[in-house]
Parts: sequence; structure tokens; C-alpha cells
Amino acid sequence: MPLFELHRTDHPTPEAERAAIVADPVFGKFFADHMAVADYTEGMGWHDARIIPTGDWQLHPAAAVFHYGQEIFEGLKAYRHADGSVWLFRPERNATRFAASAERLEMAPLPQELFLAALDELVALEQAWVPLPDGERSMYLRPFEIANEPYLGVREAKNYRYGLIASPVGAYYPAPVKLWVTPNYTRAAPGGTGTAKCGGNYAASLAAANEAAAHGCGQVLYLDGAEHRWLEECGTMNFMMITAGGQLVTPALGSILDGITRDSLLTLAGEHGLEAVERPISIDELRDGIASGQVTETFACGTAAVITPITGFDSPEHGAQVVGDGEPGEKTGRLRAHLLDIQYGRAEDRHGWMHRVA
Ligand SMILES: *Cc1c(COP(=O)(O)O)cnc(C)c1O
Repeated sequence: MPLFELHRTDHPTPEAERAAIVADPVFGKFFADHMAVADYTEGMGWHDARIIPTGDWQLHPAAAVFHYGQEIFEGLKAYRHADGSVWLFRPERNATRFAASAERLEMAPLPQELFLAALDELVALEQAWVPLPDGERSMYLRPFEIANEPYLGVREAKNYRYGLIASPVGAYYPAPVKLWVTPNYTRAAPGGTGTAKCGGNYAASLAAANEAAAHGCGQVLYLDGAEHRWLEECGTMNFMMITAGGQLVTPALGSILDGITRDSLLTLAGEHGLEAVERPISIDELRDGIASGQVTETFACGTAAVITPITGFDSPEHGAQVVGDGEPGEKTGRLRAHLLDIQYGRAEDRHGWMHRVA
């Protein structure tokens, strides 16, 4: 029994048009014909779970999300395997993180069962929008939740709406990047919202991203908010480094986002002869390690880009540095290929990460 009631569109995208979009997708620009929606009303709980034509939402201008930013989201992908089947990667981790983000922002958590059913039912319905795997194409899935109660008082809202939209995508960040160690901005603070996947964190990151771009860097490296000394994240991805001693080192959880790609790479490290280590990394250790050759490779990881090699750093306080020979690292490349091979069904899924949808 589906949990989401299906209301089909009368105007599906013509097949030739859809095929052209799916063959050459642009990140986040084109959307499948349907979306999943559910509403939460205080006293009634979650109700009216439905799949409807993708289209505009009408919201009262006093809806809380417009004023106080109660908004959370998730991001995951549907992968087409060579046999035509369609799979999700560890969607239950997105479900629990979505609930944790809701809790941090005092929003109504969507039951895990509904979160997973929305993915299964929408992706099965819209499987024609999942591209063939070549060129790392996939269908990006964006679950999100907003506070839509029309009320200007500052308190948590009583009503929420959940949505899930789907967009075919190609490789997100094809090129290696240099990181800008921002002297002016922090992403998170102890006790803040750094561990929640919320739109507000992203709004606050745009100035730093533009600062990085103005200095010729593709992403920001954030240091911690208290001491401005400990590495946190790069842009909207987790940071990792590989050492000459054979370790894969990444900042410990705390005020960073608990990335699913991060966790998966830590799990795979052993198969690549790397010891996975989660601990604080200071900017001094990174700088000295790159200079001495102790840090051999650096990269950023997250669902959208999988792994983006980091080939250098620039900082007004710490100077400019090139990692290794300035080329994407070999071990970085092998880790990336391994994770992609699991996701696209080309390597054995030893950890039970893949979830078949169609
Ligand atoms: C989503 C996100 C990540 C990556 O998480 P994944 O689960 O690997 O996609 C890392 N940092 C931030 C700030 C994020 O929002």
C-alpha cells in the first residue's frame, strides 16, 4: 500500500524533451513532473501525504519560514545501474539526519517511514528521469521541510510542510579546487546549528563563498568559531586528508555536519590500506604537514560532488600552499572510484548500503 496518494499530472513533459534533459542534465534546473508533499498540523500530526504535479506553492506572506527561517533539507541521489535498476544510497541515514535537523530547529520531525516511502514512491514513479550512469549522472533528490504557519510571533510554528523534488544531474564539481581559509567568517559555533542541515547555514555561507571566489579559490575552508584554529568543513562538504603514514584523517564530529559520504569513506578506508582517524586537526598541523610532505592528499566530500580533490590552500594569515605536486591525489582518486562503483552497482556492496527502488 503506498503511503502517498498519487495525483497524476495532466501535462507530463513530452518524452523527447525529457530525454534531452536527462541526456545532458544541469544541476538543480529541471525537475521531474511530480513531487511528494505532506502537511503537519498541530494536534493532527502529519497528514495528506500525496504525490502531485511539481508546481508552485501558495503560502501566506506571514508564513514563519519567510521570517524566522525554520527550514531544513536533505540531499541524496538515485543511481541507475547497468541492468536498468534504480537504487538509493543509505537513505535511512538521510531520514535520521532529517529528524535530527528538525529537532534542532524545533520543527515537527517527519516519521522515518514517511521519509523513506516518499523516496521509494516518487523515484519509482519518476524513474524515467534517472539518467544512464555514464558521466556520473544520477537523479538528485531534495527532501525539505518549512514552517508554514502564518504567525509573526517568535516561537516554533504549529504547522509544517514537507516536500520532495527530484532533478536529474551530472557531475557537480568536475574540477579540483583550491581552498580559501577565510579569516572573516565562521560556519558554526559550539551550541549553534552546524550539525543541522538547514537553509540558514547556507545563507550565511554565501558571503564566504564569494570572498573565496574573489581570491581565485573554488571553496572556503572554515576554521572553528571559538579559537579560529581547528579545521571544520570546506564550503558545504566535509574535509579529509591523507598522511604519508597511511591515515585518512578528518575532523571529529561536534559542530560539523555528520556527512554520509564522510562516514562511508571512513568505513572504506581500511580496504585502501588507510587507517580512518577522526580527531581535531589544527590549521598549523595542516600547513606544516603540507610543507613537510606529511600531508600528501586533501579532499572534500559530500553527496553532490562525491569527492572533490583539493590541490592547494590560500590564506592571508597562513600564505598560499600547494598540496603534493598540485594534482589530484592518487589515493583520493581510488577512494572516489570505489564509492562511485558501489553506488552504480559496479563494486560489491559489502555494507548493505544500497536500497533498490525500481
Ligand atoms: C550536506 C552537507 C555535507 C555532506 O553530507 P553528505 O551526507 O555526505 O552529503 C557536508 N557539510 C555540510 C555543511 C552539508 O550541508
